[in-house]
Amino acid sequence: MLDCAIIGGGPAGLTAGLYATRGGLKNVTMFELGMPGGQITQSSEIENYPGFFEHDKTGMDFMNTWQEQCFAFGLKHEMKKVERVSKVDNHFVITIEGGEEVEALTVIVATGSTPKRANFNGEDEFFGKGISTCATCDGFFYKNKPVTVLGGGDTALEEAYYLSNICSDVFVVHRRDEFRAAPPTLERVKRKDNIHLITDSVIEEAYGGMMGLDGVKIKNIKTDEITDMKNSGLFVFVGHNVNNGVLKDENGNFICAMNDWGQVIVDLNMKTDIDGLFACGDMRIQAPKQVVSAAGDGAVAALGVISYIQELN
Ligand code: FAD
Ligand code: NAP
Repeated sequence: MLDCAIIGGGPAGLTAGLYATRGGLKNVTMFELGMPGGQITQSSEIENYPGFFEHDKTGMDFMNTWQEQCFAFGLKHEMKKVERVSKVDNHFVITIEGGEEVEALTVIVATGSTPKRANFNGEDEFFGKGISTCATCDGFFYKNKPVTVLGGGDTALEEAYYLSNICSDVFVVHRRDEFRAAPPTLERVKRKDNIHLITDSVIEEAYGGMMGLDGVKIKNIKTDEITDMKNSGLFVFVGHNVNNGVLKDENGNFICAMNDWGQVIVDLNMKTDIDGLFACGDMRIQAPKQVVSAAGDGAVAALGVISYIQELN
């Protein structure tokens, strides 16, 4: 029986592994379906992680040392996809793809979330080269420059507001003339002089060259008119998929409390409403979706696991 099974090897899962093993747990395994590192390995640079200020390093370079450090303290890694977590009596059963089952006294779920793509031409080509899904991460690269935002939900308008304090102008492109975002958020955005709402419109194409994005072609879906928006930053906020599948039972019901958006409800110790089950990082409620906060969550969850096991003993 494992002391702790960690599911997901991004910043949250790796940090949980570091704190759990260094905190004295002997038998901790992290299940990660690919190479450890998580979403940030897709990034060409990271400049908002305190203490790390090396412009020539990618997100992949940044995460490499994390796994080395964890493994040095005894964290075991299995490159396996977890299908399901179930609570049986006083412990958990982890079902791995293919049917293998592993027992664990505690579980930390850190499977993250995935920003949705809008599926316009050029989106994949320029993702990470001008197209971003994170204003906190990349907004600063467009200081005093104009940017485009796609989406009409709470995230799009809140992030547009955030960007309007950094960028010269923010052009919000939304496919309808009504916004899904909460009315007070929309009102706050409308009061900002440098935010411009472009409704009934979609992004037809993102274009650019070797140096990255040069602009986007915006199509008004009522008139078919195309506007060429020449700016080098496009932020896409068309929703997130929370990777919460491992928390569903065989009937598709969640085993712990979730909010309406599929995020795991946790307390300040990253504890769910199931004893011994913790969740952390981008998949939890109110996650800031940053490496630094995911790592902090992982540490908190591991400390919670250690206390829980001490109480059991
Ligand atoms: P993730 O990093 O999403 O890790 C979850 C892991 O779980 C993944 O490795 C996944 O493979 C694994 N997993 C999922 N399901 C299963 C399963 N069933 N079984 C086993 N493993 C599973 N943040 C910043 O702070 N600064 C930045 O500059 C920045 N730039 C970014 C740039 C890009 C392009 C992207 C995509 C994100 C960026 N972020 C940045 C956000 C940051 O990467 C995330 O907030 C952070 O990685 C979340 O960590 P996490 O551990 O919660 O989840
Ligand atoms: P969301 O509410 O699903 O909104 C996504 C937006 O993107 C919608 O406006 C949608 O348009 C648009 N969209 C979707 N697919 C598109 C495509 N392919 N092309 C162009 N546009 C597309 O997602 P979210 O804003 O990330 O919010 C997710 C949940 O979190 C929501 O329930 C939200 O209320 C909540 N949230 C709350 C807060 C808060 O309370 N402070 C903050 C952030 C998020 P349509 O409107 O036409 O469908």
